[in-house]
Amino acid sequence: MQLSTLKRFRFFLRSMRYFYQWNRRVADIDYPPFVVSIEPTNYCNLRCPMCPQSEKRDIDYGLMSTELYAKIINEIKHYAREVILNIGGEPLMNKRLPEFVQMASDAGLYVKFDTNAMLLNEQWTEKILDSPLDEITFSFDSEDKATYEYMRARAKFETVVQNMQYFLKEKKRRKQSQPRVVLQSIKLFKPHQPLDVGPAYRQLFEGLPVDEYRGVWAHDWVGTVETGKYTLPPREKAHYHPCRLLWKNITVSWDGNVYLCCLDLNRQELVDNVRDKSMLDVWFGARMRAARQRLTEERNHESVICNSCDLLYERPEFSAQGLKRVVQENLRHFPVKIHST
Ligand code: SF4
Repeated sequence: MQLSTLKRFRFFLRSMRYFYQWNRRVADIDYPPFVVSIEPTNYCNLRCPMCPQSEKRDIDYGLMSTELYAKIINEIKHYAREVILNIGGEPLMNKRLPEFVQMASDAGLYVKFDTNAMLLNEQWTEKILDSPLDEITFSFDSEDKATYEYMRARAKFETVVQNMQYFLKEKKRRKQSQPRVVLQSIKLFKPHQPLDVGPAYRQLFEGLPVDEYRGVWAHDWVGTVETGKYTLPPREKAHYHPCRLLWKNITVSWDGNVYLCCLDLNRQELVDNVRDKSMLDVWFGARMRAARQRLTEERNHESVICNSCDLLYERPEFSAQGLKRVVQENLRHFPVKIHST
């Protein structure tokens, strides 16, 4: 599927509106969300120490139904650009995932998800490569077995490497350009440690169609994971700016609850539920507006989750670099889709 030039242009103009309103700290925004994070499930097969999933939590677990998913997609297809099919769980734990990918793609949305690849057996590889998925990110933290298995508790290094390599070989054999494949390494912050993945990591996938290698620092999930052990490098607190998430993303959990933020894995700030309500009513509703207002006025301490969020110090004022990022996002999200038949 190829998006029309007109649609690309409209998204580009809306991106500029978002960039302006976010940078100027406009709380009363006038455009719909671009990115919708939807949770196929919040069950996870692993217990990574840098994730709130590793602790016993008093929250409900479940799988999103096809009916609820269809309701959401039927609405957001009119204005959203991208769907991310994971929040707090492992998406491969919901067998409806290929159906969800198909529905979102049929609706003209860019579809992607992250997986730890532990469940990515040959059957899953076939299903994913047969689907119109646009992008997949493998969370693979280290080429060192001991480091990897420490960070991905319950995973088995050899199985995960074999699963990813099989997937990539199959993709290559089929001569498919989609899905775009990202290999992401989460690193526990240590001063002077490089963020990039090293040659030994890349060597595991040599000759295979990896589109991007990405290193990211582990963060503390809005203060829910022990700080000081897995956190980001300390940020310069002088550079407060509202996070971009409330200006761009909306987050729906498996049961239709909308939470303020996709980082809120412990479900502390419920905004609403979209079973019987439209997403736009929630997005423009009083609670989301109040939350944006709070951040523009630097009253983040009034929110349980924003109070301890590092992303408020992520970037300084309006910058050419920020604008470049918005343009790149738009270009990257509209590749021509090519699938083998
Ligand atoms: S400030 Fe942090 S916790 Fe609050 S909405 Fe933004 S990213 Fe989420």
